[in-house]
Amino acid sequence: MSTVLVIGAGGVSSVCIHKMAMNAEIFPDIHLASRTKSKCDVIADSVKTRTGVSIETYEIDAEEVPAMVNLIKKVGATLVVNLALPYQDLPIMDACLEAGVHYLDTANYEPKDEAKFEYKWQWAYHDKFKEAGLMALLGSGFDPGVTSVFTMWLKKHRLKTIRQLDILDCNGGDHGQAFATNFNPEINIREVTAPARHWENGEWVETPAMQVSTPFDFEEVGTRQAYLMYHEELESLAKFNPEIERARFWMTFGDEYIKHLTVLQNVGMTSIEPVRYQGREIIPLQFLASVLPKPETLGETTKGKTNIGVIATGEALHGSGEKTYYINNICSHEAAYAETGNQAVSYTTGVPAMIGSAMMFTGTWSGEGVFNMEEMDPDPFMGMLNEHGLPWKVKELDGPVSF
Ligand code: NDP
Repeated sequence: MSTVLVIGAGGVSSVCIHKMAMNAEIFPDIHLASRTKSKCDVIADSVKTRTGVSIETYEIDAEEVPAMVNLIKKVGATLVVNLALPYQDLPIMDACLEAGVHYLDTANYEPKDEAKFEYKWQWAYHDKFKEAGLMALLGSGFDPGVTSVFTMWLKKHRLKTIRQLDILDCNGGDHGQAFATNFNPEINIREVTAPARHWENGEWVETPAMQVSTPFDFEEVGTRQAYLMYHEELESLAKFNPEIERARFWMTFGDEYIKHLTVLQNVGMTSIEPVRYQGREIIPLQFLASVLPKPETLGETTKGKTNIGVIATGEALHGSGEKTYYINNICSHEAAYAETGNQAVSYTTGVPAMIGSAMMFTGTWSGEGVFNMEEMDPDPFMGMLNEHGLPWKVKELDGPVSF
């Protein structure tokens, strides 16, 4: 493998491309394509200024499979890194199969007309990728991505089995805006307004969105209210760790965010049902997303830190009885911006996308078929996190979480 084609030119893509360019020995030939070429050019200019590396850019609608196949062949890509939106996962996977190249993404497929993200659509591609002798790696961001790798590292090095698991995602940053989302607004709001779901005793337990919460003291951020949510890695973690009795995902939100979101929901602005407006159909959430600040513009003003990690309790690998471990990364918005021109939420997703690509490019992770992060050896990925800006630490807690 030597040539990579990245699709999408948002904040996550910008970080991933900068980090690939900083590791030119692994990524000697980088190409970037998106719906709006000018956005690719802005990223390419920044990469040239910061690293001296030249990136070729192209315009593409990734939902047009024949055009994607042509582009993949034209640039001679061996790996396509999908950093566009979840809606494009399946067409890009189709194009990879037709062109005979490997695939990586950071978010699982979601149909446009239903706010429902599940792995089933992409897992259904396993045999096709296997027969083609190709690898598709799903969810190589932070959550999903690093959170799955953290869990599997604990299972390899600290715990024989995992009984209960809590993923805690805190963005303690302040962007100075009344209301903004730190990654794609449409996807973010669809995720946050969906009912909460967690895994308990072999089944999904559903509760209304944003109803269950707990305060948690996040190191280097402080105490924040964390809300129970559904998040896609719960599905793969439960599948690949069938012994887990309970797995939950928590994300922090400030009072201002909740206040704005509640009003927007109450007036129907977060709906994905089409409405007629001045003679044409519009989707209220897509209109809302178009007037909200673009995540890639928040970097300059965002201050503070993210703290994302996993708390797992289970049978100790060494010794007897149960133990509980907390493994996490703390990332500074200002440091991420100084290095790549993007805030920490884009950084914590773009760096793992680069590392997942590096795992595939170097053959450290390989396989034929569709794979989740849980199926790979966590050690080399964990090593690269430490080397490329997302250092982690692990500590033993006194006992299981009390919430
Ligand atoms: P942005 O909205 O900032 O960027 C998305 C990019 O994709 C835009 O440049 C957009 O083009 C482009 N795009 C959209 N549709 C198409 C299309 N049909 N063809 C080609 N390009 C298209 O999103 P982010 O950078 O914030 O997020 C990128 C991805 O990362 C998302 O899938 C998101 O869900 C995922 N993510 C994953 C996380 C994780 O931890 N695993 C965390 C955060 C995000 P245009 O500019 O023209 O609209």
